[in-house]
Amino acid sequence: MRSDAIFIGIEVSDEIAGDAAAAARLEEVCPVDIYADAGGRVQIVDTNIDECVLCRLCIDATPPGTVKVHKLYDSGPDAVLSSDPAVA
Ligand code: SF4
Repeated sequence: MRSDAIFIGIEVSDEIAGDAAAAARLEEVCPVDIYADAGGRVQIVDTNIDECVLCRLCIDATPPGTVKVHKLYDSGPDAVLSSDPAVA
């Protein structure tokens, strides 16, 4: 699933979207509450997306490539934060 705000887009792969442990971890680590644990599923909180501080905690807390943070204002090589070596 992916949700875009004005400056930031958040992408969570189907692989972990329904994973209760991932949902709990993401809710816990994001300092600006972009993720919520919706009964064991990952929910992206649209109203908070542009508050992202690019800290990468969500990326480090999940398996490689399953969470990506898109900087919609940047078209350069650093436009996507990810732990996937093919993207990062
Ligand atoms: S990079 Fe940091 S602020 Fe942005 S969504 Fe991930 S945990 Fe939240």
